[in-house]
Amino acid sequence: MKAASGLPEPAEPPANATFAPGVTAKTTGTDGVALTFDDGPGDQTMAILNLLRASGVKATFCLIGSNVREHPELVQAIVRDGHTLCNHTWMHDLQLGQRPTDVIRSDMQRTNDEIHRAVPGVAIKYFRHPGGAWTAAAVSVAEELGMTSIDWDVDPLDWDTGSYGVGPGMVNHIIDSVKQGVQPGSIILSHDGGGDRTSTVAAYQTLLPYLLQERHLRLVPLPTGRMVQQSAQQSAQQRGRLPN
Ligand SMILES: [Zn+2]
Repeated sequence: MKAASGLPEPAEPPANATFAPGVTAKTTGTDGVALTFDDGPGDQTMAILNLLRASGVKATFCLIGSNVREHPELVQAIVRDGHTLCNHTWMHDLQLGQRPTDVIRSDMQRTNDEIHRAVPGVAIKYFRHPGGAWTAAAVSVAEELGMTSIDWDVDPLDWDTGSYGVGPGMVNHIIDSVKQGVQPGSIILSHDGGGDRTSTVAAYQTLLPYLLQERHLRLVPLPTGRMVQQSAQQSAQQRGRLPN
């Protein structure tokens, strides 16, 4: 079955998914490992997409709404390649979860609306709070909007150029962190936007073959179920964003 946008149908949720309502998911609930790329779309999004495509790997992209507005074509490229989308707020407000509920809701909705402006009807089933600064209110509003809150269990700190710089030091730090931390079911946090992410791209040139061929791990996009996709399409239709 094709989505209304003509894009590939995303994977069905696994039978034993641990994405319980009202909590953040730190693992995938299967033996599959999820690569997640945050803070884009940005300068290195295409480079990451090219690497993933060359390895036949699907991932999950946590998008910032204002970046989506700047680069809708990159969102379209992400979706065209069959990756999963995640809402990462409009402007990466680290305090969003502490703000009034209506402010949280309008930020998340504005971000989803911008993503749907780029790709009408696409499923947005996940939310990740900036900095992992989760609050019960943020998780609850995300759930109201049909999004599961995703955390991570492997963090190579690829955003922290202040500590590791850009270049071989950072590349090695990312590679070592992922090699040491990854296990079946891991959700790995990395970044394709928000700063100089050339080290992240370089690290994944090594990590993709390592994860696939040495560790024999299955790299999976987070699943987007049909129910969620249908509701996203319906809400987009209600806003008149779908072509028919
Ligand atoms: Zn972020």
